[in-house]
Amino acid sequence: MNRRKKIYEGKAKILYEGPEPGTLIQYFKDDATAFNAQKKAVLEGKGVLNNRISEFVMTRLNSIGVQNHFIKRLNLREQLIREVEIIPLEVVCRNIAAGSMSERFGLPEGQALPRSIIEFYFKDDKLGDPLVTEEHITAFNWASTQEIDDMLATTLRVNDYLSGMFGAVGITLVDFKIEYGRLWEGDFARVILADEISPDSCRLWDATTNEKLDKDRFRRDMGGVIESYTEVARRLGIMKDMPRVIEGGVA
Ligand code: UDP
Repeated sequence: MNRRKKIYEGKAKILYEGPEPGTLIQYFKDDATAFNAQKKAVLEGKGVLNNRISEFVMTRLNSIGVQNHFIKRLNLREQLIREVEIIPLEVVCRNIAAGSMSERFGLPEGQALPRSIIEFYFKDDKLGDPLVTEEHITAFNWASTQEIDDMLATTLRVNDYLSGMFGAVGITLVDFKIEYGRLWEGDFARVILADEISPDSCRLWDATTNEKLDKDRFRRDMGGVIESYTEVARRLGIMKDMPRVIEGGVA
């Protein structure tokens, strides 16, 4: 039996020690949580889909020069990644009002925003990931001014690229959450994209019908979660070498 050392276990993923120093293995679980883990379920096949979709997105971003932690996919549920020091912020970018943005400002869900808006949330489950400003981020030393600028610039670039990529397959990128980490090179730390980009972390709507193809289906008890994630993968053209994940688990 392979007894790898577990480094960290989160709600949807596990990180194991990698084969070489500076690498980790990211394992995608089928667990789904929402509302700060008050709502939980196991959605069979979700981990396989998110592993594949995140691989696809990270590879495409790498090809346009957006550095990220992804090295290669190892198997159905695992990918080899670069070990980074995670910056404790969730960086959310929004194009259309939905979710907490709609609630906070009383905006109807689906209303286009005047421009893309980036927000930072402090990653702390006990506190419910509060919205923070750049003042908090620098005062509490979560990131430097330069790192904030780098994250803002990269996030806009990711938004532009992914809006086009999803748009080309009939999907509207409503909003998404990304995370960044520091990659140390001697005394210098470069901020690169980390974590995952998948229907768990993006709002993706069918461009024609506005049907939700993302985790809101789970949050709002709409059903068809796996079918929707599968549809996203199919439209991105990555279903060819995917196992059957609907009905009876991963075949
Ligand atoms: N999001 C996420 N993880 C979180 C919170 C939000 O991936 O812990 C994503 C969410 O899927 C959506 C975007 O970030 O694509 C904005 O989420 P929002 O602030 O509207 O929060 P929610 O309505 O999900 O509570």
